[in-house]
Amino acid sequence: MNRFLIRKVAVLGAGVMGAQIAAHLVNCKVPVILFDLPAKEGPRNGIVSKAVDGLKKLKPAPLGLAEDAVMIEQANYDEHLDRLGECDLVIEAIAERMDWKLALYQRIAPALAPHALVASNTSGLSITQLSEVLPESIKPRFCGIHFFNPPRYMALVELINTPATKPEVLDQLEAFVTTGLGKSVVRANDTPNFIANRVGIAGMLATIKEAQTYGLSYDVVDDLTGKKLGRASSGTFRTADVVGLDTMAHVIKTLQDNLADDPFFASYATPPVLSALIDKGALGQKTGAGFYKKVGKDILRLDPEKGDYVPAGGKAEAIVERMLKKPAAERLKLLRESSNPQAQFLWAILRDSFHYAAVHLEAIADSARDVDFAMRWGFGTRQGPFELWQDAGWLQVAQWVKADIDAGKALSQAPLPAWVFEGPVAKAGGVHTPEGSWSASRQAFVAQSQLPVYQRQHFRESVLGSGAAVALQSGQEIFKNEEVRVWTLDGEVLIASITAKLHLISPTVAEGLMQALEHAEASYQGLVIWSPDEVFSAGANLEALMPIFMKSGAKGIAPEMKKFQDFMIRLRYAQVPVVSAIRGIALGGGCELALYCSRRVAAMESYMGLVEVGVGLVPGAGGLTYIARRAAEMANAANAGADIMKFATDGFTNAAMAKVGTSALESRKLGYLLWSDIVVPHKDELLFVASAQVKAMFDSGYRAPAKALFPVAGRSAIATIQGQLANMRDGGFISAHDFHISTLIAEVVCGGDVDAGSLVNEEYLMRMERERFCALLEHPKSQERIMGMLQTGKPVRN
Ligand code: NAD
Repeated sequence: MNRFLIRKVAVLGAGVMGAQIAAHLVNCKVPVILFDLPAKEGPRNGIVSKAVDGLKKLKPAPLGLAEDAVMIEQANYDEHLDRLGECDLVIEAIAERMDWKLALYQRIAPALAPHALVASNTSGLSITQLSEVLPESIKPRFCGIHFFNPPRYMALVELINTPATKPEVLDQLEAFVTTGLGKSVVRANDTPNFIANRVGIAGMLATIKEAQTYGLSYDVVDDLTGKKLGRASSGTFRTADVVGLDTMAHVIKTLQDNLADDPFFASYATPPVLSALIDKGALGQKTGAGFYKKVGKDILRLDPEKGDYVPAGGKAEAIVERMLKKPAAERLKLLRESSNPQAQFLWAILRDSFHYAAVHLEAIADSARDVDFAMRWGFGTRQGPFELWQDAGWLQVAQWVKADIDAGKALSQAPLPAWVFEGPVAKAGGVHTPEGSWSASRQAFVAQSQLPVYQRQHFRESVLGSGAAVALQSGQEIFKNEEVRVWTLDGEVLIASITAKLHLISPTVAEGLMQALEHAEASYQGLVIWSPDEVFSAGANLEALMPIFMKSGAKGIAPEMKKFQDFMIRLRYAQVPVVSAIRGIALGGGCELALYCSRRVAAMESYMGLVEVGVGLVPGAGGLTYIARRAAEMANAANAGADIMKFATDGFTNAAMAKVGTSALESRKLGYLLWSDIVVPHKDELLFVASAQVKAMFDSGYRAPAKALFPVAGRSAIATIQGQLANMRDGGFISAHDFHISTLIAEVVCGGDVDAGSLVNEEYLMRMERERFCALLEHPKSQERIMGMLQTGKPVRN
């Protein structure tokens, strides 16, 4: 086996992107050295140090765990150039200037390891031109690696080769970026701004122009071009503010400097309003003003006619909003035929986007799929332009676009390419087919990349029309009820997928999972709890318990809670390994479900916590019992006489304050993942990794943990905690009801009114949980919290 190893990465440039890329490498356990110019004054690593410090405060957080900032090694080109020799991959992310980048390459070339890959994070400069100053020996190992801001959260990475790049270099990098960093790769041609920024920025420019034509204000445009249109919620102008208007101007300039022959060249002119804002230093969010400005709590928008900011908040008209809710074909027809200016505006920008994508496909991308993925992963749209076009009816939309071009309404006179109307695309009714997606340069449908790394994604993201397998209709179904589907892909590992809304755990879900467990024990190596969508579980389904509560009060709920708890015990002591595959939120009962599995694999973006306090309750399905048991285990591991209280305190605090991990790494720090659990960078590899864990555990002769008594901290610890809670209550930091609930939590975590070191079992603690949970259900203040959450989705503070 010829392994490709990335033992360490150097990132050159500690600016917005470089520092955040370094942070994400740390998230993914990749050792990293971050370089920048030496500071002119003070410590020579000053520029890098400041950037690393900034990472801890930046929102959204680039680091999974803020304190991990120390893992970024700091360096400058004057003192530490030789350290580049330690790195297998060098990512350059310095300012977007060809001359500066070239000068830096010349400087670093002699210090590089002879096998190291070198890649530029340029937004759109020519990769081939950048490679020209490199020695011949480095050229085959050079390429573009274009991350999107913020790199931890944006899925897209565009990889760009030069004619000299060795194909295996890109293949290896694609595997590393996918499995190692959890990003989704699109290969882009070496054309200005590559794919996503080329299409995306042209779309923003078109939007600015059409908004002016139809006389719409920025806030209305953002409301129209955000979530309602299936795009990122920040719409158009707020997205520009977030990206930075100077950065946007750079990208536009790359279009202007390099695309004189482009039939859309005229539409690349910098909008005067953008130049005016930049001249004033209003660069968007980072300078506090751009198209919008925040004053106190108020959001103002620029009124270009007044040249001043006015209150924002304009919204789409209800009639247009209704049109946007229709299926694609009807939606586009309604928008196009409506005389409402907002509807006409939307048709115009959609038409412009179809026109632009079709005309440029041949030059910028290998296939229409790459364009659609680039827009989905890099700009957060639900569908890319080709998918939407196909969804709405290929030939019909093509004729509408053509009619507008002929009537001089489009941004360019360039006709749609011939392949739109005739040949395989017209015949197939679109660019995406089960055979593959249309490649205008190859005049054929091309299949998705078959690199080995994609065997790790059982259900890869796919485009509309590709006929890709749908997880919840795949494999062999063993059984299903209304809220759980139990199935298998290989006859060895059983999969339970919760299908309920937000995967809320109701008695039906618990019953389905229990049955799954029984099947797994009877005939499989083990069970994976995994669903294809974005949440693991938002918690217990309180609404489902409501009828029982209405009929018999808390007394009626106690046996239901006991069933949940019995199920948790059943899970923990199952005869086969049960692995939960977590992604997104795992809260309350969802977190407990994960905790009682034999192992957890969690996507980097997993948010776990026991949040029951928010609805005036205590965790009631084993969460507190888990904290108590873990405290005993940790104390025991520390040394025989260790104070359990010390280990229980953190768990208590996390539950009492309803803390939620803001990443898998932080969830682990809160104690909801163990060191033996696995953090998976790419969400689409979760099922693969979870199944691999089941098989490995089975093959290793899995036995359930031994059922044993364990010591608790007892009444003295409760008294200590209560003393601290009383101070917080008297100081006005927590309410009387918070004090009450926290005390109940402390009681369970410490094992109740017993001596320190008393031995208990899980059933004993679960009974304590259950009693307190049910008592709180009857408490008016808790009822207020529950009703508030059910009605508004927001916690009530009382
Ligand atoms: P930035 O201005 O925040 O940071 C640039 C860094 O380069 C600074 O730390 C600076 O000290 C360093 N630098 C400046 N001149 C230099 C020189 N002559 N030699 C060595 N270092 C020098 O820029 P950024 O936004 O992080 O962009 C960096 C790269 O990433 C650019 O190529 C940009 O196009 C690209 N990019 C930016 C974004 C974005 O949203 N900001 C997104 C994707 C890609």
